[in-house]
Amino acid sequence: MKEIVVLSGKGGTGKTSLVACLAALADRKVLADCDVDAADLHLVLAPRMLQREEFRGGKQAYILPDRCAACGECAVYCRFDAVRFDGPATQVVGKTYRVDPIACEGCGVCVHVCPAQAVELAPAVSGEWYVSETRHGPLVHARLGPAGENSGKLVTIVRNGARDIAEARSLDLVIVDGAPGIGCPVIASMAGASMVLGVAEATLSGKHDIERLAGLAVHFGIPMLVCINKADLNAEVTAAMNGWCRMRGISVVGSIPYDRRFSEAQAQGKSLLELGDGVTARAVRALWRETRTALESRR
Ligand code: SF4
Ligand code: SF4
Repeated sequence: MKEIVVLSGKGGTGKTSLVACLAALADRKVLADCDVDAADLHLVLAPRMLQREEFRGGKQAYILPDRCAACGECAVYCRFDAVRFDGPATQVVGKTYRVDPIACEGCGVCVHVCPAQAVELAPAVSGEWYVSETRHGPLVHARLGPAGENSGKLVTIVRNGARDIAEARSLDLVIVDGAPGIGCPVIASMAGASMVLGVAEATLSGKHDIERLAGLAVHFGIPMLVCINKADLNAEVTAAMNGWCRMRGISVVGSIPYDRRFSEAQAQGKSLLELGDGVTARAVRALWRETRTALESRR
């Protein structure tokens, strides 16, 4: 089984629109949306949810009102200002302290300073992940809640879930819509993958993003392909990106022209390919042929 991870140095590069097209073109695959902070592949693929699981990504403090003596020590020492004096009354005090779950960072200081052993740390539910069926095959995706922590861990759960399905159904490929940027969720998206497909617009910042992604790919020993999106917007930068990639042995497998129908397709819950043929659709198909050949050449 091969795993290709589609990445971009930042959001808004057209990465997810491209993944939706690859989902339409590739056979025998599982899709994984690892952009857990802003998942939007489901908007195009209209998934039918089969399984929903809680994600516990961090810890959170809870005050046990029956034990709380309302001394206020926890509030004094909490540097995140997460303890409130508006908890329920008990037989001893008229009001106890309570932890604000949004503000709590789970550092555990309150547990140590509480003289009444009234505070406990417990795993906090910070999101959900799902297994769904779509018109283009199975999809594993997730939603990280507000202030949800540990998105790298959730990315790993989504990837592992997609791999498990591929193995169980004897499918050949996992296509991962990776997290944007180059932080922890991106590293969790790409580590151990067969190949990275970096997507960037033909701008100076897009070129810089590809260079940073290539550095990460080299670090993890993963071969990388590049797709230049909106390649016709700046011929000079596109030429510079092509030249930079050539110098480093990175194949530019696609140059996609600017096409406002990507947005129209997304608004209709479709991939661009489902709007019919055209120059852009042909460029995307050519990109997939190149990518598939590169993947097949990997053992
Ligand atoms: S330190 Fe313990 S006893 Fe004191 S207010 Fe906090 S939870 Fe209650
Ligand atoms: S665990 Fe840390 S952040 Fe949360 S309430 Fe206790 S001291 Fe504050």
